[in-house]
Amino acid sequence: MFIRQSDILERQILAARWVYPVEGPPLERAVVELEGARIAAVYQGEHPRAVDLGNTALIPGLVNAHTHLEFSQLETPLGPAQPFAEWIRSIMKSRFTCSVPARDRIQQGIEESLQAGTTCLGEIATGSESLQLLNADDRKPSAVVFRECLGFTPDRIQEQQQIAADYLQLGTDLELSAAVGLGLSPHAPYSVNPDLYLNLIQQARDQGVPAAVHLAETEDELEFLSQKSGPFVDLLAELGLWDPQILRDGMRLYDYLAPLAELTSALAVHGNYFGVAEIEFLKQAPQISVVYCPRTHYYFGHRLHPWQSMISQGINVALGTDSRASNPDLSLWKELQFLRDKFPDVPTDLILECGTLAGARALELSDELGTLTVGKRADLALVRLPEGSVPASGSDLLLNSRSYVSRVMLNGVWIN
Ligand SMILES: [Zn+2]
Repeated sequence: MFIRQSDILERQILAARWVYPVEGPPLERAVVELEGARIAAVYQGEHPRAVDLGNTALIPGLVNAHTHLEFSQLETPLGPAQPFAEWIRSIMKSRFTCSVPARDRIQQGIEESLQAGTTCLGEIATGSESLQLLNADDRKPSAVVFRECLGFTPDRIQEQQQIAADYLQLGTDLELSAAVGLGLSPHAPYSVNPDLYLNLIQQARDQGVPAAVHLAETEDELEFLSQKSGPFVDLLAELGLWDPQILRDGMRLYDYLAPLAELTSALAVHGNYFGVAEIEFLKQAPQISVVYCPRTHYYFGHRLHPWQSMISQGINVALGTDSRASNPDLSLWKELQFLRDKFPDVPTDLILECGTLAGARALELSDELGTLTVGKRADLALVRLPEGSVPASGSDLLLNSRSYVSRVMLNGVWIN
C-alpha cells in the first residue's frame, strides 16, 4: 500500500457558484470542505477561507460504467454502423491489425476519460494491461475491470474458463488498491456458448465478483436467439463456428438475465431492446443494472431506448460511452449533454444522477463515490459554466452546450 499524497493534505475549502451533491438538490453559492482524500462537509453559504472557484459547478466525478479502453487510439468510430454484424467484422479486423501496443491505447483512454471528468470506469478488458495501469497509482480513475470472455463453440469452454480463473488469480496476486475491482464479462449471447455463459456467471458468483454482459443490443440478437437465423448466424457460419445445436430452441433474453440475478451485482449493457417482460424481471432483480450508452445507441440508429421507463419503474440505469469504435470520444460529460439535448423534458438532476450515483451503484461503489456526501472519496469534477446571458436556473446551466469540465480531483488532489 502506498501513502496517498492526499492523506497528508490540510483541509481544503472550495466555494463554487453551484454545488451538485446529487444526493439532494443543487446548492447555489455553496461550499465543499475536504479533509485529505474525503469529503468533510457540503453546505450552502460562505466560508472566509474558501478558495473561490468562480463561475463553476462542483459535481461528483463522473462514472463511465461501460467502455473498452483498448480501442482508445481510434480517431473515428468504425464503420459501417449497419448492419451490426458488419461492424463486428470491423472490430475483429481492427483488433488483429492494430500496431499500437495495448498499454499505449489503454493509457490514452485513461487520460482522455480523466480529462472529461470521469473518475470511475467500468472497463472491459481482453488482457491484463487495464488492471495493471489502473492499479499503478492514485492518479487513475477507480475502476471495475471486467475480463472479457468469448467463444461460441463447445471446444472453447474450458480455455475461456481458465482465462477467467487466471485473471481473477492475477487480481489477487497484484494486491489491488481499494480503488480497483475485478469482474468477468461473458461478451454477448451471439459470441458466448450458452454453457460457457452459465459457467462464467457461476465463477463470478463463486468469487464474489460482478459480471457485465452485452445484452439486447440489436434486433438481430433477438432473431438469433428466438429463430436461430439472421446476420449473427451468417457471421458465425462465415467463421466456421455455427452449429444450430449449440442454442436451445426458443431461447430468450430471460435465459441470460436470470443467472445475473444470482450475483451481488451485474451490468446488462445496452438493453436497447428490452421489452415489457425483461423490464418486469429487472424490477424484481435490483442487483442488475442497465447501462445505457446514449451516443453509441444513436450511432447504430436503434429505436428509442426505454431508459426513462426503466428508471420510473425503479431500475438502476447507469451510463457508458462504450468504446471509440462506436463513439467519437470517451467523454461521459458529452453523454450527459447529449441526453440534455435529446430529452429536454428530463430533469438535469436525473441525468446527472445516471452519470454518477447510478454508475457507482452498478459497480458496487456507491458507499465510496457517486455523490458529494460526507465521508465519501473526494473525487470531483469542476464544470466551467457559460459566461454572459444565461438562464437563471442552475439546472439549465449545468448541461448547457457551452459548459465543460475544466478540472478533475481524485482523492482530494487536483490532477489537472
Ligand atoms: Zn461494449
